[in-house]
Amino acid sequence: MITAVTTAAVSQWRRKTLGKVVFVPTMGALHAGHAALIRRARRLAGKDGAVAVSIFVNPTQFGPNEDLSRYPRPLRADEALCRSEGVDLLFRPDIREMYASDFSVAVSEKSLSLRFEGAERPGHFDGVCTVVAMLFQIIRPDIAVFGEKDWQQLAVVRRMVRDLKFPIRIVGHPIVREEDGLALSSRNRFLPPDARMMAPRIFQALTAAAMEAEGGAKPASLERQLRRDLGRIPGATLSYASIVEETTLEPIGRFTSETKARALVAVKLGGVRLLDNLALPIAR
Ligand code: AMP
Repeated sequence: MITAVTTAAVSQWRRKTLGKVVFVPTMGALHAGHAALIRRARRLAGKDGAVAVSIFVNPTQFGPNEDLSRYPRPLRADEALCRSEGVDLLFRPDIREMYASDFSVAVSEKSLSLRFEGAERPGHFDGVCTVVAMLFQIIRPDIAVFGEKDWQQLAVVRRMVRDLKFPIRIVGHPIVREEDGLALSSRNRFLPPDARMMAPRIFQALTAAAMEAEGGAKPASLERQLRRDLGRIPGATLSYASIVEETTLEPIGRFTSETKARALVAVKLGGVRLLDNLALPIAR
């Protein structure tokens, strides 16, 4: 594995790499969810291709009162995980490598970004789009793998790639969960024990909604049920719980046989923002 901290070093690596390049962008503090993305990337790259992973805690996607300074940075463990998963290139630039001190150009997605996470965290997706666009320019991957865990992010990145004509295929990978259903996240380590005990109820609420959807329940009643279930989790503050069309993230008034629906939820529990989502099977 080559570790690069400069864009020049990545360019040099890229020029020598002939096969398909599959890229997994991350903020580090790698867990089994990231490892699953890397393994997917390995399979997509095939035996002649290469896997590139970036670790960069991107300041422009954090709001002023968010957890940028306390975001975990276990570099050695992250490097070890990348090495053991067969990563070819690890790119871990510092802030100055990515942002000039008078940096003044950004990429802004103006529709999907305004809802849900974007409404709660103004400017978040501008930061995400800008850094992902930069990383795409630097790595020049053929394919990039993103987790379904951040469903809205995946939708926004797909839109950016479509609208700005990046010649890159975006692959979404399913959410990796703890045995009790909690979606893995680098921030789960901040959950106090009592909040950690309650956290699986988020996935339970989503699975209950999926069962109701399969049984023929309507979107409005599913949303009510979800909000009620999430609201009953002791210590939890509901941020949002919505049933949306999976690509456009538009609210769904009525299910039809063509509808592809997802329940998107965010809950604050024990001081930690927890995101989750689930596909809803629609009764035919
Ligand atoms: P992050 O390091 O949190 O920015 O995440 C990097 C990538 O890993 C993103 O595409 C996330 O959606 C993905 N990811 C994070 N947690 C999970 C998980 N539990 N399952 C699948 N993908 C995940």
